This record gives sequence, structure tokens and C-alpha cells, in this order.
Amino acid sequence: MTGPEIKGFVETSLCDWDGCISSVVFLPRCNFRCPFCQNGELILDWNELATVDLDTVAGYLTSHSEWIDGVVITGGEPTIWDDLARLAGRFKELGMGVKLDTNGSRPEAVRELIRLGLVDYLAMDIKAPLDERYHEAAGVKVPLEKIRESIEIISGFGDAYEFRTTLVPGLVGEEEIRLIGEAVEGAKRLVLQRFVPENSLDNRFRRAVPFQDSFVTHLLEIAGSHVETCFYRGKIGVGLS
Ligand code: SF4
Repeated sequence: MTGPEIKGFVETSLCDWDGCISSVVFLPRCNFRCPFCQNGELILDWNELATVDLDTVAGYLTSHSEWIDGVVITGGEPTIWDDLARLAGRFKELGMGVKLDTNGSRPEAVRELIRLGLVDYLAMDIKAPLDERYHEAAGVKVPLEKIRESIEIISGFGDAYEFRTTLVPGLVGEEEIRLIGEAVEGAKRLVLQRFVPENSLDNRFRRAVPFQDSFVTHLLEIAGSHVETCFYRGKIGVGLS
């Protein structure tokens, strides 16, 4: 797959890169089909979405460079695009930091961005324990060795990364969080994310009820025993270090 087309652009965000004012570009398509995915349009009907001209994005970044810190490249799954490095390079040329959101299925793409110095922060989803549960959570058969490889690469990326797990009822509970913690043992950061049922790809998950705060706190304690910092990105904002 070659050049990525930008299918969504958020000019300014305070919540997509912790501590930064960022712009966000959305790349279409994904090699996963997570039943709880909130971006169904972007991965299934992406051809019907208007393409955002890269020069328009670059123009915005240039004219707001005094207060935009960087660009978050998200999707979909950005690493499926062969020209991802060129896109990231364009943002770097404009003096922008680059954050990449990835599902970790293409470690070679992540390694290449790091090698070229084209990424400043990495965020990788850990969908489930690295066993048959991963396939269920991703909605496809996942090459788990690729996920392990990405975890290893990203864990070695200094301080500027996070692993993150969405707390999807029925897919991720107490045992799963313990096993996920073990899979990223010693990592700098593991973020537990609030599950949002409304637009889930699979209708069954639209009726699921997010975990109560007390259970989230319990999961944070479990996860926090495996990593340096663990916090919840969602309503209650509980943090453990
Ligand atoms: S990895 Fe899953 S949640 Fe992320 S875009 Fe792909 S299908 Fe959606």
C-alpha cells in the first residue's frame, strides 16, 4: 500500500498528546476489526470520505507553528501505508513533533520511523493478553510475534511512549489486565482507557456498559504493579505511579 490520504484533520487538540497542543491527522484503513472500534467510517467506508489536502494541513501548521507543538498521526492504522515516513517527514520539516498511534502489527514501520528520527512519541494499543484473546479483541487473527516485536521496540524508545488498553467489558477484565501488565512488564507507561460504547463497530458492544469507577481503580492497581506509571484516561482520572 503506498501513499496515505488524509481523511480527517483536527486543527487543534489538547487531549491527543498529553502535555502538547497538537493537530491530528486521520489516515484511513486498518488491518484489524476491533469490535469496539469507534472509527468504523474510517476503516470501512473510507473511500466515501473527502480527502484533506496535505498542503492545506501544512499551511495550517505553518501559520500556527508558534503554538502547535506537533502532529498526531492516527487512524485507522497508519503503519499499513508505505509512505508513512514521507508524511511524517513533511511534518518534521515544518518543525513539528510527531506522535504515532499504532496497533503494533507492523513493527518494521515503527522501527523505520525511529531510525529516520521521524517520530517523537509512540502510543501502542495492547488489545488483550497475547494469546487467543487477542484475535477476538482485534476481530482478526493477529500475528502475535509482531505485537511482541513492537512492544520490544517501543519499550526501548526512551521515555516517550505509552501502551494503552481500552477497558472493554467482556474482553478485558481482572485476569486480562494482569496478563497485559506482564506482557509490558517494566514499561514506562500503561494507560487504561475508558470504553465508549456508542459507535462500536460491532452492534453488540453498543449495549455494553463501561466499568464502574471502583472496578477501574482495582484494575489500575493491578496494572500499576507491573509498570512505572499507570493511569486512566477517562472520566474519573485516577492515577497511580
Ligand atoms: S486497531 Fe482496532 S480500534 Fe484501532 S482503528 Fe483498527 S479496528 Fe479500529
